[in-house]
Amino acid sequence: MYITPRPENIMVRGEGSWLWDNQGKKYLDFIQGWAVNSLGHCHPKMVETLSNQSHNLLNPSPAFFNQPSIDLAKLICDLSCFDKVFFSNSGAEANEGAIKLARKWGALHKENAFEIITFHHGFHGRTLATMSASGKEGWDQLFEPKVDGFKKATFNDIDSVKPLISNQTVAIMLEPIQGEAGVIPATDNFIKDLKKLCQENNILLIFDEVQTGTGRTGKTFAYEHFNVEPDIMTLGKGLGGGIPISALVAKGHICCFEPGDQGGTYNGNPLVCAVAKVVLEEVSKKSFQNQVNEISSYIKNKLDTVKEKYAIHNIRGKGLLLAFDFQEINSKDVVNSCFEKGLLLNGPREKSIRLVPALNVNQTEVDEMFEILFRVLDQFKAN
Ligand SMILES: *Cc1c(COP(=O)(O)O)cnc(C)c1O
Repeated sequence: MYITPRPENIMVRGEGSWLWDNQGKKYLDFIQGWAVNSLGHCHPKMVETLSNQSHNLLNPSPAFFNQPSIDLAKLICDLSCFDKVFFSNSGAEANEGAIKLARKWGALHKENAFEIITFHHGFHGRTLATMSASGKEGWDQLFEPKVDGFKKATFNDIDSVKPLISNQTVAIMLEPIQGEAGVIPATDNFIKDLKKLCQENNILLIFDEVQTGTGRTGKTFAYEHFNVEPDIMTLGKGLGGGIPISALVAKGHICCFEPGDQGGTYNGNPLVCAVAKVVLEEVSKKSFQNQVNEISSYIKNKLDTVKEKYAIHNIRGKGLLLAFDFQEINSKDVVNSCFEKGLLLNGPREKSIRLVPALNVNQTEVDEMFEILFRVLDQFKAN
């Protein structure tokens, strides 16, 4: 089915920061499946784990425990402030789980409160409920009627949140850095004020860390930047490093699902859990995160030195979830020209470029990215 415009080139092979198409053309990949391939394409440790696990056990069904899912759940809890994990297959599905868990908690503990406050420009996925929770432009008229119970506030504006709170409010749900909106970080004060508001009103705080989690921002989870503990967190994208797995993670006292409330045929299968464990072990190492933060500073500094020359502003983001804006040039034109020259970049908004390379990208690859990008921008300047 036609769902998005795509180039004719068919991608056939990937290795680290590089991707090859069926014409033998090579691309430097600074999209990595939208921040999915944490360790780049086809990392040897992931390939080895996939192979080994596939010889032992693929899927005993969620009616039984399997060791890789137990090990991964324990690792996530050891690395975070949370106690319980439910695995699923996509970010949207993890967020559906978060919404269901919050509603169940509201039914049991807050007189059936069910409303969730979410944010304009937020992105939580493409199922009916997660589209309803999202604040993506142009989505408000799609697939009506929407799932009820989502009220939209303005990101980084606590005064827009307060009037939406009622005795029906069960949770506030947000991305600590809005990804699809163009990498918009929440401010420290906003997160602290939200946490306070939640505590005062007996409301759950849900962080959608599908894009920001699993080492992407230079810490294992982005909530660590804010010194605030959410009640529920969702993970996806980078957790599997390219294979489909996501997780709903929560504080123990929130977990109130009963048998029949939640499940799924493929959920927590040993194949994906074994691979995700390898990914998470790697990206949670202090030395690995130091490297992510060094490369991040390197990229930001380099952008800073050319911001006058190319009329770039708003250099922002944490770790390797970075973005910047052009004053005049349209990002779509830059993205297309870079594609021609063998560089994959993403433009989440009209004037924004988002950089989400593999977390183990090296300095040589970053230099090559800038070399192509600057060549393209020089052309735009000349014209
Ligand atoms: C990508 C994304 C999702 C949806 O994940 P899928 O795996 O595409 O369902 C949800 N929330 C955020 C913040 C995302 O970036």
